[in-house]
Amino acid sequence: MKVVEPQVYLVARPDLDYDEVARYLQEVGGERWLERLDRGELDDPQNLVEFAGRLCYRSWEPGLNPNVSRVRTDQTDYLRNILKSAHGSVLEHASFSFVLHDISRVATHEVVRHRPGVAISQESLRFVRLQDLPFWFPEWAREDEELMKRATAILDQLEEFQRWMADHFGLDEEGVPFSAKKHRTSFMRRFAPEGVATGLVWTANIRTLRHTIEARTAPGAEEEIRLIFGKIGEIMRTECPALFGDYVIEDGAWIPEWRKV
Ligand SMILES: Cc1cc2nc3c(=O)[nH]c(=O)nc-3n(C[C@H](O)[C@H](O)[C@H](O)COP(=O)(O)OP(=O)(O)OC[C@H]3O[C@@H](n4cnc5c(N)ncnc54)[C@H](O)[C@@H]3O)c2cc1C
Repeated sequence: MKVVEPQVYLVARPDLDYDEVARYLQEVGGERWLERLDRGELDDPQNLVEFAGRLCYRSWEPGLNPNVSRVRTDQTDYLRNILKSAHGSVLEHASFSFVLHDISRVATHEVVRHRPGVAISQESLRFVRLQDLPFWFPEWAREDEELMKRATAILDQLEEFQRWMADHFGLDEEGVPFSAKKHRTSFMRRFAPEGVATGLVWTANIRTLRHTIEARTAPGAEEEIRLIFGKIGEIMRTECPALFGDYVIEDGAWIPEWRKV
């Protein structure tokens, strides 16, 4: 048994092609918007959302759309207004990919319940044979000596059974076809506890991230998923301060100023 901690890696974020943006803006007369823009390494996601929002009203500059006589020039103000007016569809253009590593099957089962705006690739325990049983214990459990003694004994026994089955089925013998290994590995995973740590790639757009961070850090949510989405919330607040700056964090619960944008 290997004690692990749930980990979150941000592995991909939006990347704008400013030459193509400029080419489009020349068509509609909005080049000066691009000149105002910060284009640092971390600015692309918010720039993409602002771009999508301004395209809707042609609000690059006053007068390009005769119905628009004033525009917000500060990006933070502009994006806060998107949240306030629940114009959340423009947030869907910016997606972020995370590896959620060493999270339990309990947690993955809950993560995959969120449907719109996500993509998921989950480690297959049909293919990946369990050799040790990675397992997360919350702090309060670690402090309970008797609980840890009994829990460790059970996990050690389950782990030993995994190894026994692999040997019993001869999975590492010469010439065993992969299909046979897969068949037996799938059987063997049934004897892993639901707390076994595994992982997935989880991609979500900003609209979905706002909703899931709120839902999965709420006081009633499960403690491991609260931990995971707290980490995702911290990452997103650094990545997109204007789009995640409205949350107040109370006892680990991320409470947004604007819900369900
Ligand atoms: C504290 C907590 C306890 C839970 N307990 C249980 C439980 O006991 N049993 C259980 O089965 N599940 C439970 N869940 C899971 C929960 O029921 C949802 O399945 C999960 O949180 C996904 O969230 P969502 O419904 O907001 O949908 P998401 O898939 O995250 O969708 C986001 C939003 O899009 C809209 N939407 C998505 N799909 C549709 C659709 N088909 N039609 C209309 N609108 C849609 C809704 O507004 C939805 O809120 C729990 C979740 C939490 C946070």
